[in-house]
Amino acid sequence: MARYVFITGGVVSSLGKGLSSAALGALLQARGYTVRLRKLDPYLNVDPGTMSPFEHGEVFVTDDGAETDLDLGHYERFTGVSARASDSVSSGRIYSNVLEKERRGDYLGKTIQVIPHVTNEIKDFLRIGDAETDFQLCEIGGTVGDIEGLPFFEAIRQFAQERPRGECIFMHLTLLPYLAASHELKTKPTQHSVKELRAIGIAPDVLVCRSEHPIPEGERDKIALFCNVRREAVIPAYDLSTIYEAPLAYHRVGLDQAVLDAFSISPAPRPDMRRWHDVMDRIENAEGEVRVAVVGKYTQLEDAYKSIREALTHGGMANRVRVRPEWIDAEIFEREDPSPWLEGFHAILVPGGFGERGTEGKIRAAEFARERRIPYFGICLGMQMAVIEAARNLAGIKDAGSEEFDFEAGNTRFTPVVYHLKEWVQGAHTVQRRPEDDKGGTMRLGAYAAELAEGSAVARAYGTTRIEERHRHRYEVDVAYRDALEAQGLRFSGMSPDGKLPEIVEHEGHPWFIGVQFHPELKSKPFAPHPLFADFIRAAVETSRLV
Ligand code: GLN
Repeated sequence: MARYVFITGGVVSSLGKGLSSAALGALLQARGYTVRLRKLDPYLNVDPGTMSPFEHGEVFVTDDGAETDLDLGHYERFTGVSARASDSVSSGRIYSNVLEKERRGDYLGKTIQVIPHVTNEIKDFLRIGDAETDFQLCEIGGTVGDIEGLPFFEAIRQFAQERPRGECIFMHLTLLPYLAASHELKTKPTQHSVKELRAIGIAPDVLVCRSEHPIPEGERDKIALFCNVRREAVIPAYDLSTIYEAPLAYHRVGLDQAVLDAFSISPAPRPDMRRWHDVMDRIENAEGEVRVAVVGKYTQLEDAYKSIREALTHGGMANRVRVRPEWIDAEIFEREDPSPWLEGFHAILVPGGFGERGTEGKIRAAEFARERRIPYFGICLGMQMAVIEAARNLAGIKDAGSEEFDFEAGNTRFTPVVYHLKEWVQGAHTVQRRPEDDKGGTMRLGAYAAELAEGSAVARAYGTTRIEERHRHRYEVDVAYRDALEAQGLRFSGMSPDGKLPEIVEHEGHPWFIGVQFHPELKSKPFAPHPLFADFIRAAVETSRLV
C-alpha cells in the first residue's frame, strides 16, 4: 500500500502547488522511493481538452491518450514518470461516472448524494495503483473554500480516516502577503486558510508558505503555534530564478525531511541530489544565448505553451546555452512583412494550435525560415502550415490549405492538402471519426509509433528509426501529395508504420527544417532533453555563430 500526501492550497490561487508537488516527488525519488503524482480538479469539464489555452493553459497529453491538466507536465518533467490517464480526474468526470452508474441501475433503490456516492467515486479514483508505488502525491486543484472543491476535501478526509494511522498526510500551501508600508509579512490569511481546512476535518501536517520576503523566525513560530503545525514543518517557499531550482531549494529548507517526519519514517534514507545539481549547473553555467522566435496564437499567456517553453530550455541545457524564446503573434504577419520581425532570430518555432485565425501568418513564418535558411521547427499545426507553404510556393498548388480552415458541407476555397482524418489504426484496431462527432476526446490522441527514413535529419537527431510520440490533432497531411512535395525537396521522413500518415517532413538541403505531427515537447525533461529540441537548439547555436 502506498503512503499518500494530499496537497491543497489556500489564500490565493496560482501559488505553484503543481510545482511544489512535482519538486516533492523528485525529492522522494532522490531518497530512493517510487512516486506517482496525481491531480484532482474541481471544475465541471470532463477533461480540459475542450478548454481554450486562454482558460486553462496548455493541455497536457498522456501516452494513453488523455487530455489533462498542465500540472501533469510538471510532474513528468520533475520525476521522469510518464503521466497516465488515471493520474488526472475532474468533478465533471466523477459526476459523469456517478450518473452513468445511476442510469445503469448500479445504485438501484438509493438516493444518489454527494456523500457517499460522489465521495466514494473520488476515493475509488485515489485507490487506483495503490500497490504500485511507495508514495502517491495527490494535488487538489483550486483553493480551500471553493464550492466545487468541497467533495474532494471531504473525500480525502474520509480516505485518510479509513486508512491505517500515519499513512496519509496533508500538505497545505499558502501565501504570506507583504505589506510594504509597515515592512511586515502577514500570517493572518494563512491562519484563516488553515482554520477553513480544520473546519472540514483536515489538519495540515506540513505548511508551505510562499513569500516574496524572508520569513523571520518569530513569524515561523507564530504560524506553527496558530496553525497547530510543528515548527520544522513550516516550510518557507521563496521565488526562484528557475523552476528547476525547486528540488534543491525545498531540500535546503527541509521539505522532504518534514514530510518523512510526518510519516514517522526514521531514519530517513539519505538523498542523492546529483541529478538536480547537474541540472542547475547546466542552467547557471550556460555559455552564450540563442534567440528563438515562437510564432503562435496564444502568445499573451505564459502557460499556453508551457511544455514548449520548458523543452526549449532543456534543448539549451543539452547544448549548455541559454535559450531566449520570444513570442510573436502570427496574425501580425498577415498584415506585415515578417522580415523585420524575424531577422536576428537564430531559429523559428511554430507550435500547435487550433482554428484558422493566425494560420496565414504561420505559413509566412515557414516561408521566411525556408528561404532564409533559418532553423525551423514546426509542431503539429506548425508542421501542417509548413506543408501548405511548400505546396503553395514550391509545388504550385496555389490554393493549398487545410480542411480546418473553412470546410462547410464539403466546400472549401482551398485544395485541402491537410484533411480531416476519419480513420486510422491504433494498436490492433481501427478508429473511425466523422466531422459531426462530439469534440471532446475524439482527436487522434496519445502515443503512436512512427518509422523514420534512414539517413534523414530526424533519424540522425533521434539516433534511431523507430520512435513513439504523443499526438493531439484532428487533421492530417494528405499522403496523396507526397510525390509532388518530395519532388520539391520536402521529404516525408517519418511515417506511421502502415505508411498512410505523414508524421514528419523535412526540407532537404536546409540547415534544419523539420515539421512533426506530434508533440515532442511533452516528453522532454531537464535531465533528459528531447532529442529534437536538443538538435534544434544545436542548429540555432550554429546559426548564431554565422551572424
Ligand atoms: N488544429 C490542428 C489539428 O487538429 C493541429 C492541432 C495541434 O496543433 N495540436 O490537426
